[in-house]
Amino acid sequence: MFYYTPPRNLLNNKIILVTGAGDGIGRTAAKTYAKYGAKVILLGRTIKKLESIYDEINKAEYPRPAIYPMNLEGATPTDYDNLAETISKEFGRLDGLLHNAGILGTLTPIEHYDIKQWYQVMQVNLNAPFMLTRACLGLLKAAPDASIIFTSSSVGRKAKAYWGAYAVSKFGIEGLMQILADELETNTKIRVNSINPGATRTVMRAEAYPGEDVKTVTPPEAIMPLYLYLMGADSAEVNGQAMDAQ
Ligand code: NAP
Repeated sequence: MFYYTPPRNLLNNKIILVTGAGDGIGRTAAKTYAKYGAKVILLGRTIKKLESIYDEINKAEYPRPAIYPMNLEGATPTDYDNLAETISKEFGRLDGLLHNAGILGTLTPIEHYDIKQWYQVMQVNLNAPFMLTRACLGLLKAAPDASIIFTSSSVGRKAKAYWGAYAVSKFGIEGLMQILADELETNTKIRVNSINPGATRTVMRAEAYPGEDVKTVTPPEAIMPLYLYLMGADSAEVNGQAMDAQ
């Protein structure tokens, strides 16, 4: 487990965009960032779930978040430009970007992998983070020390049979992280890193391991120290790192 004790005001006045904020790890990360002072932009595809986390954050009296419904599977470059434009108008900058949304696809041999599903997984897990990052770079440059966090997986670092498009998309994410980290190292204050959450108690984990006793799986709250560390100022010098939350 990654250990880190954040100061209570770690993310005060930060504007942080979290994708897939309605459920699982993204939901917990959004609430945790708000708890440490951030104004969180909740991006996801299911409005009801976004409203529920929005209410939870307000009820806890953390900074009021913003909701941005968006389906990353069908989103066009114009949709990303519109999102960046909205953030620019509302806040003028972006301090943090957590690419968390993801889909599993099917666990099956490459020989039988459904081609349409391959495209879907690549679109949500890899192409969307590319387009979103590209659209937000101006906003991130406008922040004093911005952090981009990509979500990887153990199979994005060492692939395994049957993990198909999911594993390939996560390898792509690690590549995108490394390229950006290198490109942004010299002339910007933006750092770029990736997190492998490790086995975490969510719908996606249950989908991948249906026979598993969920009580034995780490809850999302337990992996938050790394999510906080990489988002806050204590990681200002950390760039291009592939890190493990557990
Ligand atoms: P999850 O519980 O299935 O949550 C995924 C989130 O992504 C949901 O909020 C979902 O929205 C959103 N999402 C999916 N497709 C989307 C789309 N087309 N547009 C917008 N939002 C979309 O998964 P999780 O376990 O929390 O996973 C979070 C990240 O961690 C993923 O990148 C995953 O690959 C990675 N990861 C997880 C584990 C684990 O053990 N859980 C391990 C390694 C890596 P809806 O709720 O509206 O569907």
